[in-house]
Amino acid sequence: MVKVDILGVPFDNLTADAVLQKLLGFLETAENHMVVTPNPEAVMLARRDGEFLALLRAADLVLPDGIGIILAARLLRLPLFERVTGCDITQALLKSAVGRSCYLLGAAPNIAEKAAENLRQEGVTVVGFHDGYFTAASEKEIISEIQALHPDILILGMGMPRQEQWAMRHLADLPCKVTLCVGGTIDILAGNVRRAPVFMRKIGLEWLYRLISQPSRFWRMLDLPRFLWVVLRGR
Ligand code: UDP
Repeated sequence: MVKVDILGVPFDNLTADAVLQKLLGFLETAENHMVVTPNPEAVMLARRDGEFLALLRAADLVLPDGIGIILAARLLRLPLFERVTGCDITQALLKSAVGRSCYLLGAAPNIAEKAAENLRQEGVTVVGFHDGYFTAASEKEIISEIQALHPDILILGMGMPRQEQWAMRHLADLPCKVTLCVGGTIDILAGNVRRAPVFMRKIGLEWLYRLISQPSRFWRMLDLPRFLWVVLRGR
């Protein structure tokens, strides 16, 4: 099965390696491709917001970012290989796409700059960056800058649904090959937010680590049990 439908969101059923190959393939084409990484909170938002659901459905690649999505697939007896997080796939792509360039757009002022600095130290070609708190007035300048710099990869970390709305609105105007909508990834690349230890990621407890390290996420994370309840009810 190529697509796995979870509450209307069509996830691509690919291993992380296959996703990476697909992204590398996108880099060889002439068009810009939008990649989204919904977690259970995003799926619940898509249930409440039809426009957001349409954006997810229109993306070129829909990756399951969150153990809750994998669990839902198991409950629905649907095959879904594995969790492919926005952060992991961004890092894997930047490592594999040797000679390709990227632009970072998102996170608080100074964070995108720090992420760019860290990536450059690792040998990644970062042609530019901008924080994700720009006004409508400065948006034009950002778009012109991206057009002039021609990055192959655009890393968008402005939170959902803003990053997906922004990506879809400007996809055709931006001369990139891959536009990754990857939430808090720029914070992680900057070293501003830490990922859960590997053992916690492996046993599907990254959400717990995030909750403990960022308690302000508590209210929005209530969508996780709600999501599982809706899946169970629909089964
Ligand atoms: N952010 C941004 N512009 C905004 C709102 C948020 O750049 O207008 C950034 C925020 O600083 C953080 C990221 O978007 O770096 C959201 O991270 P989160 O992990 O909450 O992403 P989500 O789970 O919402 O996709």
